[in-house]
Amino acid sequence: MDLRNDPVEAYEDLIRLRPPAVDFLLPHGNWSRPPPGRVPGGGTPYADWLIAVFDRWYGAAAAETAVRILEGILVLVLGGRSGTEGIGPEPAAVVVVESDGSIELSDALKSAYHGAPRTGLHVTTDPFGAVFDVPGVAVRRPPPAACRPCPHLRVCGGGHVAHRYRAGAGFDHPSVYCPDLYRLIEHIGGRVASDLVRLRA
Ligand code: SF4
Repeated sequence: MDLRNDPVEAYEDLIRLRPPAVDFLLPHGNWSRPPPGRVPGGGTPYADWLIAVFDRWYGAAAAETAVRILEGILVLVLGGRSGTEGIGPEPAAVVVVESDGSIELSDALKSAYHGAPRTGLHVTTDPFGAVFDVPGVAVRRPPPAACRPCPHLRVCGGGHVAHRYRAGAGFDHPSVYCPDLYRLIEHIGGRVASDLVRLRA
């Protein structure tokens, strides 16, 4: 995602290529290095951008493509599991094998600090499941404590682990995108709820 682009034009440019699926990725950032345009108290620019795409995509007369981040939220709102790394309460089920054989966590963690994905494991000596036994690895981190009272925790999960980081204070914080995630989930949940009410009437 680049906030400087018009969201609906970006979506329509993509579907002209007839892709089976597209995704819009939140730029990596955290509390110490905020993403472009994510200013405390500065509104919800990423939610506004994605809501414009959602309304265009969801309101289409016929399905045009899958949009991974939006479908992930829809599935979670309806009680399912997202299956994507950046949204939902499930721990990321992803490991990366580097070219030297070392087993690492998601590449996205590199945006937090140098070496953040390291596990100390290697394909020649360790099974992939050993990742879960490495103390403190981000793949298992529970949702941030500050997110527990949030009504959208079951859908949001606290956001992508990489986006929770604050230098010197670790990963136990809500996502730097918290206001955007809250508003986006609220909007999608509201659209789905009103459609369900209308269908039942
Ligand atoms: S919306 Fe904010 S407070 Fe709620 S779960 Fe997501 S990051 Fe946490």
